[in-house]
Amino acid sequence: MVTEQGTAAATAPAERHEVIIIGAGVCGIYMLHSLLQMGVDARVLEAGSGPGGTWYWNRYPGARFDSESYSYGYSFDEEILQEWNWSEHFAAQPETLRYLNFVVDKLDLRACMQFDCRVVSATFEDSENLWTLTLDDGRTFACTFLLTAIGMLSAATPPRIEGRERFRGQSFHTYYWPHEPVELAGKRVAVIGTGATGVQVIAEIADKVGVLTVYQRRPNWCAPLNNAPITPEEMDDIRARYPEFFEQMSKTPGSFLHGPDYRAFDEVSEEERTAFWNALYRSPGFGVWLGNFRDVLVEEEPNRIYSAFIADRIRERVDDPEVAEKLIPKDHGFGTRRVPMETRYYEAYNRDNVHLVDVNGTPIECITEKGIRTSDQEREFDIIIYATGFDAITGAFDRIEFTGLEGRTLAEKWQDGPITYLGLATAGFPNLLTLAGPQGASVSSNFPPNIEVGVRWAAGLIGYLREHGLTRIEVLPEAEEAWVADIMQSYEGALLTSTRSWFTGYNSNVEGHDKLRYMIYLGGAPAYRERLADVAGHDYEGFKVS
Ligand code: NAP
Repeated sequence: MVTEQGTAAATAPAERHEVIIIGAGVCGIYMLHSLLQMGVDARVLEAGSGPGGTWYWNRYPGARFDSESYSYGYSFDEEILQEWNWSEHFAAQPETLRYLNFVVDKLDLRACMQFDCRVVSATFEDSENLWTLTLDDGRTFACTFLLTAIGMLSAATPPRIEGRERFRGQSFHTYYWPHEPVELAGKRVAVIGTGATGVQVIAEIADKVGVLTVYQRRPNWCAPLNNAPITPEEMDDIRARYPEFFEQMSKTPGSFLHGPDYRAFDEVSEEERTAFWNALYRSPGFGVWLGNFRDVLVEEEPNRIYSAFIADRIRERVDDPEVAEKLIPKDHGFGTRRVPMETRYYEAYNRDNVHLVDVNGTPIECITEKGIRTSDQEREFDIIIYATGFDAITGAFDRIEFTGLEGRTLAEKWQDGPITYLGLATAGFPNLLTLAGPQGASVSSNFPPNIEVGVRWAAGLIGYLREHGLTRIEVLPEAEEAWVADIMQSYEGALLTSTRSWFTGYNSNVEGHDKLRYMIYLGGAPAYRERLADVAGHDYEGFKVS
């Protein structure tokens, strides 16, 4: 018999904290540190078995930064900056994971992180002003403030192709690449998907596998990463120049080291323009995308001419003209989707063991026990790699059942796309801060610098509430409406927003994600920072505190 007392004990939260942060990635790590510094009782719950978030999960061959390593690391701690050595201008995943573990240990955060904790639901108890969290193993936690640091690309979406479970070889989504080594030598390998992830995998494994067959639906405009090792002397120089780098990043719209050249493309002669574009193509990192003339990404004609320039570079690099044409996007202009950065990606298609299947011509019908059947033939494989992307930005929220006031769920509220105030909170869900969430600046920029901005703002808010003896904060519906209206307005006429990609909320593998969603803040990081500072400076206007 279960007594009334016994029932209560069985359902009582096992642990209660002032703040719980979900996620121990780049965002959760810094958020936890900031709160502990303030003396807040804070804990992180993390689904993985260690910290690192995206860099913990994505262990596929070729996974590496597309932002300069030293522009991706945290800026907030001088000792970390001085002690850590990056080995490459664009570090590979194992190094980034080591870095994040180094930070966790340096700041002594591990004791306040609980791993293997997958949160499945979070319910706000209005009368108690308390969030109750349930894990997939039934454990429960409670907190006054709930902070999500759950990543924008953490809900992996395998393709909706019939028969995936039938395949007898090895198969995995890139996000869940096995932790133990995968034997590739001599294997017949298929990769489905040619986004930033697929492009990295393909380029990395082309010369390591027996046969590689790439199934491409829509090609992307890819450009050379131009990575290089960092010598000890260079690292000394980088260390000395951190303040200069952070200052530079603070001025660019995306908080990258690369910002637009404020000339219009037709302000210079054709020769000068071509020389400039060639230099960008040879330069390291995102300059080729974000360091361009100011109108190339926003106006059709300059974008068309630049796209033609990049198409010629692809033609130069791919031996077979028919294959080259298949690899050149025809449905969108350069840079209107995320540009995958690559190292000898196009050259992979010059190898005899690499084959490109255009699934528009011969659609995939199903996965079989032995491989993949397209409309014209079945090909047999030992390994199938799904590089098919993510239910981006809101997918991680949809995978936790958040229930706010009056029993309303976040999934219901965001059914047609996210609705937020500042990308950091949403009406009807008191004391929930959606760090690095939809409609904020971090999702449309170099992630860490703007994570730092959001984290500092959230820490400031919690400090403010504590200082004033307050325990509750709620978004005012009118503030949220105005924020969403601004976001929607910023989408008008932008080339980026007329292109289907995860930026704009499309994903063929998620039911209903076949129309534009207002996912990201397009106003640029400097304006976003100003707005956050302004809101904080006006006693958190747009929120009701009590
Ligand atoms: P993605 O850009 O969404 O690409 C997914 C790919 O899978 C696309 O080529 C898509 O084709 C294809 N696909 C999906 N379903 C398919 C199906 N049923 N049949 C055939 N093809 C299918 O995803 P991602 O490559 O994982 O990249 C997501 C984001 O992660 C990137 O944009 C980037 O922000 C981030 N990322 C960053 C780094 C880095 O920092 N270095 C590296 C990798 C990824 P369609 O285009 O036709 O939909």
